[in-house]
Amino acid sequence: MSKLDFSVVNKETSNSFHKQKAVIKKVLAGKTLACEICQQVLVLVPKNQEGHAYINCQKGCTNIELEVEN
Ligand SMILES: [Zn+2]
Repeated sequence: MSKLDFSVVNKETSNSFHKQKAVIKKVLAGKTLACEICQQVLVLVPKNQEGHAYINCQKGCTNIELEVEN
């Protein structure tokens, strides 16, 4: 039965990963999306000095780190 639990965990992780990728794609395409939790608009935070870019909502409940290619 532990095998079944494992596959459920994997499925959830994969779902949220694909969800994040979809969010990133839309925001980068200039579309306006709202945070699922607080319904604030998600904004793209440009690459900082450490080379990290983020997609955040105002409250910070959504915080997706982007892979930035140099
Ligand atoms: Zn939020």
